[in-house]
Amino acid sequence: MFDVVIIGAGVIGCATAYKLSKYNLKVCVLDKENDVAMGATRANSAIIHAGYDPEPDTLMARLNVDGCAQAKELAKKLSVPYKNVGSMVLAFSDEEAATVQKLYERGVKNGVPDITVLSAEEVFEREPNVSREVVCALWAPSAGIISPWEYAIAFAETANKNGTEFVFDFEVKDIKKEGDVWEISSCDKSVKAKYVINAAGVYSDKIHEMVAEANFEIIPSKGQYYLLDKIEGKKANCTLFQCPSKVGKGVLVSPTVHGNLIVGPDATTSDNRDKVNTTGQQLDFVRNTAGKSVSNINYRNSIRNFAGMRANSNIDDFIIQVAADNFIDLAGIKSPGLSAAPAIADEAIKILASIGAELTEKESYVDSREKVVFKELSAKEKAEVIKKNPLYGRIICRCETITEGEIVDAIHAPIGARTIDGVKRRCNAGMGRCQGGFCGPKVLEIISRELNISPLEVKKDKNGSNVLVSETKEEK
Ligand SMILES: Cc1cc2nc3c(=O)[nH]c(=O)nc-3n(C[C@H](O)[C@H](O)[C@H](O)COP(=O)(O)OP(=O)(O)OC[C@H]3O[C@@H](n4cnc5c(N)ncnc54)[C@H](O)[C@@H]3O)c2cc1C
Repeated sequence: MFDVVIIGAGVIGCATAYKLSKYNLKVCVLDKENDVAMGATRANSAIIHAGYDPEPDTLMARLNVDGCAQAKELAKKLSVPYKNVGSMVLAFSDEEAATVQKLYERGVKNGVPDITVLSAEEVFEREPNVSREVVCALWAPSAGIISPWEYAIAFAETANKNGTEFVFDFEVKDIKKEGDVWEISSCDKSVKAKYVINAAGVYSDKIHEMVAEANFEIIPSKGQYYLLDKIEGKKANCTLFQCPSKVGKGVLVSPTVHGNLIVGPDATTSDNRDKVNTTGQQLDFVRNTAGKSVSNINYRNSIRNFAGMRANSNIDDFIIQVAADNFIDLAGIKSPGLSAAPAIADEAIKILASIGAELTEKESYVDSREKVVFKELSAKEKAEVIKKNPLYGRIICRCETITEGEIVDAIHAPIGARTIDGVKRRCNAGMGRCQGGFCGPKVLEIISRELNISPLEVKKDKNGSNVLVSETKEEK
């Protein structure tokens, strides 16, 4: 029996688990997939928004600004790649200049620090590749870029070190209450808990409806992207937005924490919550729209296209509510959910306290995480780590300079990698120009060796994505 069960191991569930793991509570996180960060958390723009976009006095406004401030500290503490690059909203006409002014005023109301409006000359000085059609821009220096999946993984690993359990391949199908106890069931397993937190992303309405009358509806909206090679990475120094429209913050051009350039997303409502395919038509739209901001991007240097599904809803805010007795929804967490994640976690804990959960702090609690990033070490430090563990002396991913030592660390970390993409999300092997073309087979061998499983069992990503189907020859 757990004190708290969290449904969903995206950034919201994991941030909540991290913050809860400081208390004397037995906590378990359930997810239907085989790893952390398999939903919207792994396919988004990776921006820590400053917070001028949400309407004042909404949960989104308050939690975005708070989460943005927390991200800077947390990323450092948890060894998560993060850069405080700032963001601009570009105006291309007098009408858009008026929108920029409105966003500025909204930002001031929301408490966004140090925002200003830049003249066209000031924009060109900071961003030489930006279109000369720009007339002015909103500048928000507190915005940042982050590795979104590593943010969730770092929260999960640290929570796990503090005793939080994670159960994967557990698709919640039914939730019942007997007396004071919730019973949460998949097809073949069940767990019991006093409190339940619903952080199920695009399925958060379905989970809500297992315990209460529907009072919101998720309207999934897909966003598609280009990820470009590092050769293009310097085309933007900060995140460049266009003026927002009804459907979202529009197509952005931004550097990533790994030095690449990201371009996207579009926004199309989807009738299938899991269908994150890309289409030529929408990618053309993304490319053409981004061309208005930066016209000299060479799309022949594109290394990947991907899409993510937003948990948009019919409520114009995050849905943070007590849905039933001792049951909390953290639902409809659309953008800026990544930015707001640690503040949403704080909000969940406040609600837990208000409904009677006993929150006494543990005597000892780990709140940070360290990890070896070989390529960032000095020559002396490299020699030292190789002396301690020769696996750091063997480069496996040549594009990103990732060593065998880092891959083995990723596999044996708390909530360790079990798949090739799980390794990629934890240490970057396969994230470079060749997208794992060269190192993928080697990573497969290392996973098989370290977990003592047959190479046939190693998956690329979700269940069913086994890379090898059968042996071609038997050794004699
Ligand atoms: C295209 C796009 C761009 C975005 N850009 C940004 C941005 O730049 N900045 C920003 O701040 N935000 C951005 N966001 C929003 C941000 O990504 C989300 O708000 C955030 O990732 C939501 O996290 P989550 O944990 O609620 O959901 P998810 O990451 O989707 O996690 C939900 C989890 O619940 C699990 N689950 C679902 N149903 C069940 C079930 N029945 N049983 C068990 N487990 C279940 C899923 O497997 C999943 O792992 C963007 C989103 C998208 C899609």
